Amino acid sequence: MPVDVVWFKKDLRARDHAPLVSASLSGSPVICLFMLEPGRLELDDTDPIHIQWELDCAVELSATLRDSGADLHFAVGDAVSILEELNQSYGIERLLSHEETGNSWSFERDRRVLKWSIDKGIEWLEWPHNGVVRRLKSRDDWKRHRDKRMREALSDPPFFANSIPFNGPIPSLDELGFHPRDLLMRPEPGESAAIRKLRSFLNQRGREYRWAISSPTLSVDHGSGLSPYFSSGSLSMKRAVQETSSRIEWIRENRSMVNAPGDWIKSLSSFKKRLAWRCHFIQKMEMEPNLDMVAQNPAIDRNLERELDNNRFDRWRMGNTGWPFLDACMRQLRSTGWINFRMRAMIMSAASYNLWLPWKDTGTYLARQFLDYEPGIHWSQIGMQSGTTGINTIRAYSMTKQGRDQDPEGEYIRKWVPELSMVPTKFIHEPWKMPEALQRELSCIIGKSYPYPILDELESRKSGVSRSYAARRGEEARAISKRVLQLHGSRSKPRRRGRGDSNGVQKKLF
Ligand SMILES: Cc1cc2nc3c(=O)[nH]c(=O)nc-3n(C[C@H](O)[C@H](O)[C@H](O)COP(=O)(O)OP(=O)(O)OC[C@H]3O[C@@H](n4cnc5c(N)ncnc54)[C@H](O)[C@@H]3O)c2cc1C
Repeated sequence: MPVDVVWFKKDLRARDHAPLVSASLSGSPVICLFMLEPGRLELDDTDPIHIQWELDCAVELSATLRDSGADLHFAVGDAVSILEELNQSYGIERLLSHEETGNSWSFERDRRVLKWSIDKGIEWLEWPHNGVVRRLKSRDDWKRHRDKRMREALSDPPFFANSIPFNGPIPSLDELGFHPRDLLMRPEPGESAAIRKLRSFLNQRGREYRWAISSPTLSVDHGSGLSPYFSSGSLSMKRAVQETSSRIEWIRENRSMVNAPGDWIKSLSSFKKRLAWRCHFIQKMEMEPNLDMVAQNPAIDRNLERELDNNRFDRWRMGNTGWPFLDACMRQLRSTGWINFRMRAMIMSAASYNLWLPWKDTGTYLARQFLDYEPGIHWSQIGMQSGTTGINTIRAYSMTKQGRDQDPEGEYIRKWVPELSMVPTKFIHEPWKMPEALQRELSCIIGKSYPYPILDELESRKSGVSRSYAARRGEEARAISKRVLQLHGSRSKPRRRGRGDSNGVQKKLF
């Protein structure tokens, strides 16, 4: 009897999984399949930490599926070859999966799988994932589609009476020759951990969200920390949206039972907005699958004439620029695989405006640092924060100001840049201003123990910003910017200056 294959991609969960539900209802034997594709391992934007995370989430998924009567088959190889092997062994009737909006590579791989399935007469059914709308005709309709989808019912793990058993080995990255770096504070993988994290945020950690998320330290506890789970699909967006809405509703109805209900409601509403941003940004990649290769506005990108300066790139990468707050952020990111939104934007602003580095190199490096790497969000944000979309205000951060605002006592800098651990607060953000006698007394010689700033921060930022505005001039750049706005621009009303969220959505054309 021919089988249904449920292909797990970036949807490593058993709940709220439409392809699984469909397979359980069909009556055909089922193969649940997770593939490690070596082609992906070789990509510049793939890091072993991403694969290890997915593998660990898949292992947890296999335990949940087993409770539902199904085995998860692990396989290593090219997707078409693996599917063809299964087809020859069992005869595949239907291939069931979620739509994937990944990078250029996954787009091409899906095209090959589609061609193969058509050639073999196999039906490949794909269900929408998140709030991303495939074949969307106009951005004007996007929000309506997404909101409708977010209201659909959640589903429990289905039961399987007829699953093909799997007794094979679970691949190990070590055996494949890939050695992920150890991450400090890596979250616990899998769907159960994701749901626990969502609920601890909604019930305990989230009240301070609105003001805590700009800080690289406070955001660790008071941000949701859900991004790696969304990226592996261990948590569905629909569940996150629905549980957040229910919690807001509950607080509204039970104000007297909650400490600071107004703060809770504001924070959770702000969080809910960000959940929508996730879908909004991935939708851009869905509509232009090569955003990891080509800037949204190639004319601006050309006009910028950024070049890779290896010395600058290496010092930025390693957190050795001599700008203490930036260096602390780069080192936190490398050690933990995560940093908050504001600091990601600042890191990219330093690379693009101060150091004038090309977005493709810096974006690829960052992709490999983020455990939560999500191509649709990542490359759209890289475009925005490097000034290559033409539709966003240029936001160039002062690192010293961010440092003073977010780390007034310098504790965060001292933690991540131990060379500066003995520097008094007065000089922690600008250690090169320490008198020489004090440097000697503290055994912290600037230029030796810790570098001088790589460039004058203010001058380099000013120059980067004015060159970036200049690159927007010209007919071609403007014409493309109009097209970008039409295709990708947020349709929500611009916020009033100085209030609300600041994800840098577009405000005006230049
Ligand atoms: C240069 C740059 C690159 C980025 N790359 C990624 C990436 O590869 N993967 C990724 O998940 N996020 C990325 N972000 C967005 C954001 O920084 C992270 O989503 C956030 O820091 C994750 O932490 P959290 O889950 O605690 O977020 P929370 O603040 O708790 O937000 C909840 C969820 O909302 C979504 N979200 C939050 N902020 C944004 C945003 N600005 N844009 C889109 N979605 C958002 C995420 O799914 C997040 O998990 C990037 C931002 C920048 C500036």
